[in-house]
Amino acid sequence: MKTKQFLLIIAAMSSIVLVSCKQTNTTTKEANKEANNDHLIMSILYQQRAAEYEAMCYQSYNLAKQIVDQKLKANPKAKNLAIITDIDETVLDNSPYEAALVIKKYVFPDKWKEWTSLANAKPIPGSLDFFNYAASKGVTIFYITNRDTDEKHATIENLKKLNFPFADSVHVMTRDSISSKEIRRNKVRENYDVILYIGDNLADFNDSYLKTSMDYRHQTALEQKDSFGSIYIVLPNAMYGEWESAMYNFNYNQNTDSIRRSLLITF
Ligand SMILES: [Mg+2]
Repeated sequence: MKTKQFLLIIAAMSSIVLVSCKQTNTTTKEANKEANNDHLIMSILYQQRAAEYEAMCYQSYNLAKQIVDQKLKANPKAKNLAIITDIDETVLDNSPYEAALVIKKYVFPDKWKEWTSLANAKPIPGSLDFFNYAASKGVTIFYITNRDTDEKHATIENLKKLNFPFADSVHVMTRDSISSKEIRRNKVRENYDVILYIGDNLADFNDSYLKTSMDYRHQTALEQKDSFGSIYIVLPNAMYGEWESAMYNFNYNQNTDSIRRSLLITF
């Protein structure tokens, strides 16, 4: 009982720290209102205009389909199989919002909820066919996203409009207080055998990548290399992610442009 109480206190403290970090970042970013987000231009164009980006998404979902087929072939009578997927830049394309950060000089998270409330995001290439295929084979889909609870309704509406399977309040699991997805992943694992995790951010797979340093992330990716393409499917996202925050040590209250320049590797 004491252990349980201790864990609850720790969990509550972690939530407070995480929430206050988010607020600090927001406040800092709001201080210099008109943001110059020109550093995003090439990555947004890559995701919006490069057939190579599209091909990588198809490649990811083709591989995901092969894995589902293999699992079903190996165990045709398997029950309660599930896939856990992220939403943003895995299932839904938010590049129009990222483009608005550049053109309209918004400061993230300005207008983010305005964008998600439109429920107009397009599907990531290959995602719609894959999830419908998996569903047709009896696999349950859980969408674990760090969109907030107040975005849940519009998110479900967006997924429904596009005909994604399992687009309902049980299978779309939004964030409450903490950004870690582990509690929600555990909840799914209580009742399901999760055969695949799909995401654009390595923290979509396990917490080793959550708010950890660049070096640690690289080291962990090396240790887990056999999981990629077998249980973890990674979608490309050059626009944003934990990879970017890790470059700034999760502190946006500094000159991020000079940090980016200092991290370039040249000869
Ligand atoms: Mg994502």
